[in-house]
Amino acid sequence: MNSNVLTSFSFQSKFVGGEKVELSERQEKIVHIVKENEPITGEKIAEQLDLSRATLRPDLSILTMAGYLDARPRVGYFFTGKSGTELLTEKVKKYKVSDFQSVPVVTKESVSVYEAISAMFLGDVGTLFIVDDNNCLSGVVSRKDLLRASIGNHDLNNLPVHIIMTRMPNITVCYQDDLLIETAKLLIDKQIDGLPVVTETEHGLRVIGRITKTNITTAFVDLILNE
Ligand code: ADP
Repeated sequence: MNSNVLTSFSFQSKFVGGEKVELSERQEKIVHIVKENEPITGEKIAEQLDLSRATLRPDLSILTMAGYLDARPRVGYFFTGKSGTELLTEKVKKYKVSDFQSVPVVTKESVSVYEAISAMFLGDVGTLFIVDDNNCLSGVVSRKDLLRASIGNHDLNNLPVHIIMTRMPNITVCYQDDLLIETAKLLIDKQIDGLPVVTETEHGLRVIGRITKTNITTAFVDLILNE
């Protein structure tokens, strides 16, 4: 993405109903007029621009839907005081883990590395979560963990996955109510591809979902393309 696109995205555009909205010169003028004269009716804005109320109607509804203006019946338009960036931030902060999590692929500690590789292929995932006899999280195995074991001259059928996994308490987890943006930050800070979504039980952590870089990408696309 070039920097020009980013700049216009941050400050002068929002996405309404799946359509990218660049503020037109007239819309910029409307925002300015409202800022200076709020509350101001549609009629008065039209007068200042020497246009009819009907001509302005689409612009006013775009500016209201995009969150730049607030419309109050019988009072008029207000400037929300929010920039495109602020409106976007507000929306991102509403995204919860539960809105984007995927189904986890979980295996027992006793399975062999060979079986773990098969589970990874069959489940079409990049991270396997390993559980103990109580079905609680005990470890994580990544693609490279399995690759490393595979090139290590081991008998993969007789090497239990728990020998090579990253184990508790060194597992980074998240919860359904966490903000998605916080999990994105964890993935970056810890340099990992995925997190188990867990709930606490008396025996330990039960895995109920997963958040991966793919989920974060989906959220990003959703943010841009959906109102
Ligand atoms: P890969 O190793 O295929 O690049 P990751 O970057 O996700 O995949 O994993 C890097 C290392 O971190 C691996 O050894 C893996 O076991 C471990 N790991 C993966 N996910 C987690 C997690 N949620 N918490 C702690 N360690 C993890």
